[in-house]
Amino acid sequence: MKIFVINAGSSSLKYQLIDMETEKVMAKGLCERIGIEGSKLTHKNPAKDLEVKIEKPMENHTDAIKMVLDALTDGKHGVISSLSEISAVGHRVVHGGETFSKSTLITEEVKKAIEDCSEFAPLHNPANLIGINAIEQAMGKDIPQVAVFDTAFHQTMPKEAFMYGLPYEYYEKDKIRRYGFHGTSHRFVSAEAAKVLGKKVTELNIITVHLGNGSSVAAVKGGKCIDTSMGFTPLAGMLMGTRCGCIDPAIIPVLMNKYNLSADDINNIMNKKSGVAGISGVSSDFRDLDKAAAEGNERARLALDMFMYQTKAYVASYAAALGGVDAIVFTAGVGENSPEVREGVVKGMEFMGIKMDTEKNKVRGTVDVTAADSKTKILVIPTNEELMIAKDTAELVK
Ligand code: AMP
Repeated sequence: MKIFVINAGSSSLKYQLIDMETEKVMAKGLCERIGIEGSKLTHKNPAKDLEVKIEKPMENHTDAIKMVLDALTDGKHGVISSLSEISAVGHRVVHGGETFSKSTLITEEVKKAIEDCSEFAPLHNPANLIGINAIEQAMGKDIPQVAVFDTAFHQTMPKEAFMYGLPYEYYEKDKIRRYGFHGTSHRFVSAEAAKVLGKKVTELNIITVHLGNGSSVAAVKGGKCIDTSMGFTPLAGMLMGTRCGCIDPAIIPVLMNKYNLSADDINNIMNKKSGVAGISGVSSDFRDLDKAAAEGNERARLALDMFMYQTKAYVASYAAALGGVDAIVFTAGVGENSPEVREGVVKGMEFMGIKMDTEKNKVRGTVDVTAADSKTKILVIPTNEELMIAKDTAELVK
């Protein structure tokens, strides 16, 4: 079975074609600048070690999908001879609100529900829907499509974890609550961690630490999420690449009044100009921060220290929420590639039975970096959201 995985953004579209027998990526790529001048498709065929760039106008997502389908079936750089080889399409959908607690086959009703959730993710859900409709137009209505939601895994959180201390009516009327994001990644790495440990996920308390451009931590009890650091939007939690993370909410009206800022202005500052980039003044990229800090840049050092400290605070509080932790799992761009950040997060937690082997920690890939005398396992596991989406899709269309 071959599954086509799509992650549609407002002007971009990422895709992978995955062979479910081998779980290998047959082709992957990216359409950029859809609807803007200079549209480009970058298509990769890993088996042939081929990369092609096709610059051609893409007026909309349907144009983009058609170009991708042509690339997949192309005689030279393609990987299938006919579109009928594709069994189903899996879509990443950002927000499923309280409606979706797991992945689902897409019907007209499901599309309407995704649209209804757009008020929670105005930049993402409409783009995800455009991707779904574009597939329908390019491949016909009969191809099964599945929606896999970033928020779904976190729907098991108890009310005391997902409610905010605002008047209750804002929850009842407006569904203002914590939703959490990166759910597909947290679900994937917690399941992989159980495999690495040779146990059932239902027997384990796991803290998953997804550190990338956006970052979040999740407390996973017996395979179910009981708390996570992102909130109503992905702005909450620790400071991130350019997002401020949790701050005292009273700062917002103070800055708005003092600098005559609109709601959009302050939102832009908190989402795009803050985080480790705002603190360091150097970059949102952790490689640049590492380099600057090594060269003596104090604000880059501070940004890294704040990031590790805030992440540590989530890990420690979730260890308490779980009543003890069997494994801590690091994943995503920074979690998989930065030994310094991993070490900084767990440093000082020896009193809780959490101890890292700093020598083992110097490597990459799926690794166990636990010290011999640690009670809690510390693992590094590369995330693979596309494979998780493909697995859910295959499961639902079987
Ligand atoms: P992601 O959002 O998961 O794609 O992660 C992107 C982040 O991973 C960027 O901030 C990168 O700087 C960071 N990253 C990638 N490679 C490394 C590395 N070798 N060391 C530190 N950070 C890295």
